[in-house]
Amino acid sequence: MTDCFTNGLLDVEQAMDKMLSALTPATTESQNIHLEQACGRILSEPVRSEFSVPPFDNSAMDGYALRAADLKQSNTLRLIGKSFAGEPFDGALDAGQTVRIMTGAVIPDGADAVMMQENCQAEGDNITFNSVVKAGDNIRRSGEDIRSGDIVLPRGHKISPVDIGLLASLGIAEVTVYRPLRVALFSSGDELVLPGTPLKQGQIYDSNRAALRAMLEKMDIEVIDLGLIPDDKKHLEEAMQRGAHSADAMISSGGVSVGEADYTKEVLEQLGQVSFWKLAIKPGKPFAFGKVDDCAFFGLPGNPVSALVTFHQLVTPALALLGGQMPQQSLLLSAISSDKLKKRPGRMDLQRGICWQDENGALMVKSSGKQGSGLLTSISKANCFIRLPRESGDIQAGESVQIQLFDGLLSSKS
Ligand code: AMP
Ligand code: MG
Repeated sequence: MTDCFTNGLLDVEQAMDKMLSALTPATTESQNIHLEQACGRILSEPVRSEFSVPPFDNSAMDGYALRAADLKQSNTLRLIGKSFAGEPFDGALDAGQTVRIMTGAVIPDGADAVMMQENCQAEGDNITFNSVVKAGDNIRRSGEDIRSGDIVLPRGHKISPVDIGLLASLGIAEVTVYRPLRVALFSSGDELVLPGTPLKQGQIYDSNRAALRAMLEKMDIEVIDLGLIPDDKKHLEEAMQRGAHSADAMISSGGVSVGEADYTKEVLEQLGQVSFWKLAIKPGKPFAFGKVDDCAFFGLPGNPVSALVTFHQLVTPALALLGGQMPQQSLLLSAISSDKLKKRPGRMDLQRGICWQDENGALMVKSSGKQGSGLLTSISKANCFIRLPRESGDIQAGESVQIQLFDGLLSSKS
């Protein structure tokens, strides 16, 4: 364990590995739900297609179905009928014949190609073709997208709006998913008050719980809001016991710094097994992880930006695992820093940035402003994290840096 720490700070990747290897999915309970309720839920069984998609060979164009080889004899064929979407041609095509066909309509038996209508001239029942086609041209083959029996969505997949369309196209009206994860949430600190009430000297508003709750709800997690817990042992103990009894995971913010006038550490040591780490990440050094009974515990730092960043970077993958979701890699892009960025070696920085494309299409990034761990405007104005490695020093203007675009949890734009 000691090899993970340098200068007493634990690498973020190592913290992640430790957490993920200590966790297993919180639920194996499945529910059958209607497709309309399925967006955002996690499949507990793979979905297979019971038929091929497209289910039949069909036309990719409006035009005429024919036998490609016939055009070698003559460029005029006789029209014998029509095949429209939902109204197939009843019969088969013989040599020298053609059938009017619309996009998506069934290819008539005997035809092996479709000529687009722009290359055809109709005079009564005589259709003249001004171009040639090969067998197979302009035909969408049965099973080209999905073959009968294929797994279309695996177990652990989180259902997106597009997946809803895919499932509907397969005629699936119900899916089997895990029950939603239940997460208990509280804030700790005597200085905190609820938005909407006046502030007394020394008080601040509880912003962490509001933002964390919104993010959890966006993740389709059931939130058990335990409220604002004052810095006293009895209240903390009660909150943690309630959380452990009612939820799969518990998240608190504040009170995890070392040497504070609070009881988080003492209470947790008494109730469960929890490690207090100093992470090599800026913002967000103090972090607690462990278990109270079977409930995973995540103790976030109190500073608002630190709380949101550590939640986003460390807790969301852990919650995904608890909820039965397959692991996902976040995408890192390279961008050119337009300005100098200040950075001290020792911790990985997740600076808040604004990225854009310059006139040549190059991806550029700049700081979103003052970077203090309590300054929520820096994250509110940003659209990405600028991810600067632990040992890196200052970044000069023009240098390439890695960025991570904000996802739908941190931004309403994506
Ligand atoms: P702590 O980790 O409890 O020492 O908190 C660090 C800083 O974050 C202090 O300035 C706290 O007032 C602030 N803080 C703690 N919890 C919250 C919260 N829920 N909302 C906003 N600020 C908080
Ligand atoms: Mg505190």
